[in-house]
Amino acid sequence: MYLCYIDESGTPEVPGTTSHFVLAGLSIPIGSWRTCDREISQVLGRYGLENEELHTAWLARKYLEQSRIPGFETMDWAARRSAVDRARTAHLLTLQRKQNPSAYKQAKKNYAHSKAYTHLTFDERIAAIKAVADTIATWGHARLFAECIDKTHFDQNRTQRTIGEQAFEQVISRFQQYLTAVSTQLGAPSTDALALLVHDNNQNVAKKHTDLMRQFHTNGTLWTTVDNIIETPLFVDSSLTRMVQLADLCAYALRRYVENGETDLFRRVFVRADRAKGKTVGIRHFAGLTCQCEICVAHR
Ligand SMILES: [Zn+2]
Repeated sequence: MYLCYIDESGTPEVPGTTSHFVLAGLSIPIGSWRTCDREISQVLGRYGLENEELHTAWLARKYLEQSRIPGFETMDWAARRSAVDRARTAHLLTLQRKQNPSAYKQAKKNYAHSKAYTHLTFDERIAAIKAVADTIATWGHARLFAECIDKTHFDQNRTQRTIGEQAFEQVISRFQQYLTAVSTQLGAPSTDALALLVHDNNQNVAKKHTDLMRQFHTNGTLWTTVDNIIETPLFVDSSLTRMVQLADLCAYALRRYVENGETDLFRRVFVRADRAKGKTVGIRHFAGLTCQCEICVAHR
């Protein structure tokens, strides 16, 4: 049996705040879960993050106040945390004095999101993300599925679906096709080729994806019947579920590649994309036919 952890990157609204919307699913056989979880904890332990949420976008940001603290890199973790806390408190008090409530609110929110990571320099945070990606890359039994939608190329009148619906249908179809291949390899019908979806709990999508999954169970997707994925998605709090955080890392890496051409993190996780007959079938870039990106080239 397989667990497929699902998370997104970017906004599905048009235009929203990103040019792309990415929905990614990372699948592992349940028998590997314990080993995978332990390996990620070991990697994160090297960075003092073993008990913290792995939130890639917040780790990958620059924290301006760090660059203003003299000798920050030479300090130990406790001293770095204290120095950043002091700088942040001072900044919040300044914003309060200037009576700038929106800037104050924004700064407070940013600081809360990155509070667990302030003992690491920017380079160390990036190294931690890369180390996690490299660990995922070694999991020969893991498969990555994703739909990366270029919103400038998307026409809802033609697809009859919203961006979020198309992304979910594509990921489900690609995952089901993988499970069908696993089932064929096993030879006889087996519970070994069944799967459950574990989804980041997002109020906006929980109801929609549950309803869509019920439809898929009855009628299939546009591309395939859905025989091997059982139940509707289980929605979990991603801040508490490590494997959903890994799906978030993969979705982030894919979006940064299709939006900005950032290849480093992308190539580390792209190796886990499902492949069949020499083609990468697990990940699609929904863009113009002439797109020459590595996803499109590997998909043709
Ligand atoms: Zn492309």
